[in-house]
Order: sequence, then C-alpha cells, then structure tokens
Amino acid sequence: MKIDILTLFPEMFAPLEHSIVGKARDKGLLEISYHNFRDHAEKARHVDDEPYGGGQGMLLRAQPIFDCMEQIEQKNPRVILLDPAGRTFNQTYAEELAQEEQLIFICGHYEGYDERIKSLVTDEVSLGDYVLTGGELAAMTMIDATVRLIPEVIGKEASHTDDSFSSGLLEYPQYTRPYDFRGMQVPEVLMSGHHEKIRQWRLYQSLKKTYQRRPDLLVGYPLTVEESQMLEQIEKES
Ligand code: SAM
Repeated sequence: MKIDILTLFPEMFAPLEHSIVGKARDKGLLEISYHNFRDHAEKARHVDDEPYGGGQGMLLRAQPIFDCMEQIEQKNPRVILLDPAGRTFNQTYAEELAQEEQLIFICGHYEGYDERIKSLVTDEVSLGDYVLTGGELAAMTMIDATVRLIPEVIGKEASHTDDSFSSGLLEYPQYTRPYDFRGMQVPEVLMSGHHEKIRQWRLYQSLKKTYQRRPDLLVGYPLTVEESQMLEQIEKES
C-alpha cells in the first residue's frame, strides 16, 4: 500500500516509524510519503487566510493543497479529508481502506478548510464527536488501524479476525500464565484442552460483554441459532 500525507507538521508522524506500522514499512508492504503543502503556497508561504463573510479564526487556502495534490503520483486513490463533520471512522471502515492500493490523507488545521478543497476528496472522515487541533492524530489513528489489516502485516490472520468489532462483537476475556495470580484463577474451561467447549465459552463471553457494554452492536448483527440461544440465556441471567 502507498500512503501520501498532506500536512503542515510531518514531524508529528514519528509514531509511524515504530511497532507494526514501522515493521510493515521495513518489509516493503507499506510506503509512506509526507507532503508539506506549505512548500506549495504561492503567497509568501501563507497557507491560511480569513474567512469571507467574517468570523473567527483562519481557514486553509485551496491553492497550496491543490498544487500539492497535483504533484503526487495518483493511482486511483482514496483521498481522505480529516474533518469532524465526516463519516465516523470504525473497524468496518478500516477493513474497507485496507483493500486499497493508495490512500491520500489531507490533514486540516486552524478553523478548517476553504470548502472548494472538498472537490479533491473521495471521503470526509471524522475520528469521533470531538474537535482535535489538527488532522494529524486522526490520520495516524486511521493508518494504524488500517495497516494492521493488510495481509502479512500481522503474522497470523487470526490475530485480528477475533479482535473486537472485526467479528461484530467485543472480544472475549483472555488470560496468560500463571494459572493463579494473587488468588485470581483462570476459568477452568480454558485449562481443559477441550476445543469445542473453549469455543462455546468464548462465544458466550463475547456475546455477554457486547450485550452488557455495547448493546447497539447487536442491532442488525446476524445471530446464528447458537448465538440466539446463548443470548436468550444471557438475557435471563441478567
Ligand atoms: N472549525 C472546525 C469545525 O468546527 O468543524 C474544526 C477545526 S479543527 C480545530 C482543525 C482540523 O483538525 C480539522 O480541519 C480537521 O482536519 C482536524 N480535526 C479536528 N477534529 C477532528 C475529528 N474529530 N476527526 C477528524 N479530524 C479532526
């Protein structure tokens, strides 16, 4: 995958040098290029200006971003504008982006953008219902969540297919050695070596956690017969 990032602060992206994303870059599975659109500003490197009609703050001008985009080699990319008014990012969205060959992120700053910049983009994306100082942290979060879904980036595919949200449910509780830690013991079923019982226990725990913490995820979730029976049981217990 090729990722191009338009930003005024390329140095903010240091976290993408490390961990899984850094390794994906080392393995050649991912290439990231930074483009400081200040370098393309015609008017004395001014990237911002006052809004027409008055109002507080400064807006990013269209010219530096248009000129910057024109010098990026593009192969049918998804062009993502970080914007609190956009579609909210989630795991399904990350799975969709992981299929793409090229992603271009445009990180905003100040009070926002000249609206005409939006003619360049395919997606307007928000990280959530809050306002960040700039789009950089949002872009990094999206890149991290997307890159780990690219085949071969994480060793075993199963490492993420069981993750919360990937299956549509929250992940079941997990334990590692020792069996007894300060009087807290691992559930017996996980010690049994009985694969079918362990699968049932994990599915039950996933459903229970989702029912208790995020019942909204169960709306429209396609329950199997087994899951429906488990959910009835969970509802009775609670
Ligand atoms: N005045 C804008 C508004 O009310 O929508 C907020 C501008 S914010 C201070 C500056 C930039 O940070 C935005 O243009 C966007 O690129 C980024 N940003 C802020 N909050 C964000 C969010 N929740 N998701 C994605 N990007 C965000």
